[in-house]
Amino acid sequence: MRQPLVAGNWKMNGSTESIKLLLDGIKKSLDTVSKAEVVVCPPYIYIPEVQAQLAGTGISLGAQNVNEHESGAYTGEISTSMLWDFQCHYAIVGHSERRSIYGEDDARVAAKFAAARAAGIKPVLCVGEVLEEREQGVTEDVVARQLDAVISLEGVEALADGVIAYEPVWAIGTGKTASPEQAQDVHNFIRNRISRQSAATAEKVQILYGGSVKGANAPELFAMPDIDGGLIGGASLDADEFISICQAAV
Ligand code: PEP
Repeated sequence: MRQPLVAGNWKMNGSTESIKLLLDGIKKSLDTVSKAEVVVCPPYIYIPEVQAQLAGTGISLGAQNVNEHESGAYTGEISTSMLWDFQCHYAIVGHSERRSIYGEDDARVAAKFAAARAAGIKPVLCVGEVLEEREQGVTEDVVARQLDAVISLEGVEALADGVIAYEPVWAIGTGKTASPEQAQDVHNFIRNRISRQSAATAEKVQILYGGSVKGANAPELFAMPDIDGGLIGGASLDADEFISICQAAV
């Protein structure tokens, strides 16, 4: 059985004060979350502070990005060993905002996946199509290409050391969620594609859904057989909303 996982991607939001309030709110109701592993991904600069506030809570810490190189002349970047120093156990790689705004291509995302994995950090590999691609009927081709970049570099079994997040780009931050059936179809496609190469990996890897998940739509999404939790953007900035999403992961 795969444990459900709910990860909050805070993106470039928050302040020392608002983050304390948010974490206090999450911690207060954490005992109502029975099954899900809960992860929060703050902006880099708040990671040390959040690490301290999470001590003893069981909530895991993640980063929103990581550089693929070990160290050196990469101004403004953060390495896996730096994340590891602060017990960051997860790192999102290939978020659609990194791909579209910062030009990260499949090869770079795969390199980030590999670097995180080598450091013992679980990469959360984001895949997903833009609206035009869905309308053209090429969703599966896009997701397969994004997935295969990692498989070619690291081998299919490496996927079990990470987490996959299917995030249709048209659903991110738009309020337009994929229907549970639309999401399940793609999750099933991903799991089947992996299964053709390694049934054990397919069985083990958690596949999260992301894209306008809220407390109200999470139960139906998470009830789908191949959806193992969610990667949550906007709603993860509201403690009550985030907790109700975590409660829905059973
Ligand atoms: C995200 O950015 O990963 C995301 C899913 O955002 P939102 O929940 O706001 O759509």
